[in-house]
Amino acid sequence: MQGTPRQGQGPRPPPVNKWTLLLSSFILTAAWGQMNFTGDQVLRILAKDEKQLSLLRDLESLKPQKVDFWRGPARPSLPVDMRVPFSELDDIKAYLESHGLAYRIMIKNVQVLLDEEREAMAKARRLERSTSSFSYSSYHTLEEIYSWIDNFVTEHSDIVSKIHIGNSFENRSILVLKFSTGGSQRPAIWIDTGIHSREWITHATGIWTAKKIVSEYGKDSILTDMLKAMDIFIELVTNPDGFAFTHSMNRLWRKNKSSRPGVLCIGVDLNRNWNSGFGGNGSNSNPCSETYHGPSPQSEPEVAAIVDFITSHGNFKALISIHSYSQMLMYPYGHSVEPISNQKELYSLAKDAVKALYKVHGIKYIFGSISTTLYVASGVTVDWAYDSGIKYAFTFELRDTGRYGFLLPATQIIPTAQETWVALRTIMEHTLNHPY
Ligand SMILES: [Zn+2]
Repeated sequence: MQGTPRQGQGPRPPPVNKWTLLLSSFILTAAWGQMNFTGDQVLRILAKDEKQLSLLRDLESLKPQKVDFWRGPARPSLPVDMRVPFSELDDIKAYLESHGLAYRIMIKNVQVLLDEEREAMAKARRLERSTSSFSYSSYHTLEEIYSWIDNFVTEHSDIVSKIHIGNSFENRSILVLKFSTGGSQRPAIWIDTGIHSREWITHATGIWTAKKIVSEYGKDSILTDMLKAMDIFIELVTNPDGFAFTHSMNRLWRKNKSSRPGVLCIGVDLNRNWNSGFGGNGSNSNPCSETYHGPSPQSEPEVAAIVDFITSHGNFKALISIHSYSQMLMYPYGHSVEPISNQKELYSLAKDAVKALYKVHGIKYIFGSISTTLYVASGVTVDWAYDSGIKYAFTFELRDTGRYGFLLPATQIIPTAQETWVALRTIMEHTLNHPY
């Protein structure tokens, strides 16, 4: 937790600011055609009990599509973070105060962080062009990532290849990197990043990890042993349409971009669309919800492509699905609080992984099953993996705990990737040493 707790009413901009805000908002929108978040704030609420949590849950129906939960109401010990548009701030703050819900402002003006992020990207891009190199410490667009993939595969063709596993709703290629030293259908490890498109730190961590694998092969004995016996598959952009949209239009887009006749709202939450506990608690049947599970299990091409690929491969032993933010390492189930059969093993493996991660930069992660650590969530990737016989199924929530949330500065990419790597390596080593 960061910052100083503040109760009740937060500071309000003086009236003159309103016009400055609106004017700059107009200019920025005109310049880029992108959604503008000037004056939007991220509020943190610490609910005291279940009753206060349900008052927060009510906000989704009271203010449909107005309140954007960054950390949804889960349990009283976990903070709730929500982005509130500038136009709704007075209303929402009044609601919170009238119900005795204490809040503080985590991000005072979302657009300021977005402008900084954009500026950092432009600066990095200029440097990359002048030096013809790829910067692992900055964020990239889909085109940049896909062209990096092509160069990377060409440069390391002895160990890496690119597999096209399908197309997204808007017909973009869905690509997977395969790291292999030979053999066919070897036991394999799956890693995916970016299933929620606004979680940019996850794509960046995945790219750094891919590079790390090729540079450590032959040096790091654990990784080398592993690649002699197993293959690693990484899907860097698991939600390409959503990701392209976070660059072109709405930086805070989470779902995919699918639409259906007669349905007004766009997008399905791809981490609710899997065929395990589909449609249960912690998913939503309303297409306008951020956790809309879709019309049927695996209805979304981005999910179906992975299901087909993993199922037809038939020899995956571990699956790791990477999200942000909250600093957590979790295992199944999401849809039920019932412990899984190898719960003890996964608990102790998660504990080791988190311990190793902490040693790198002193960052603390909490761990446990999804439903007991975070909240009940149905139709999630790792539940499906587990039910499909992949017993080492984990999901990460990377940095941070809310100071920047989804807008983690690019300066934190490398430290985040470094610490995540040792945790991944811990899980991979255990998988290698416990064949099944
Ligand atoms: Zn996520």
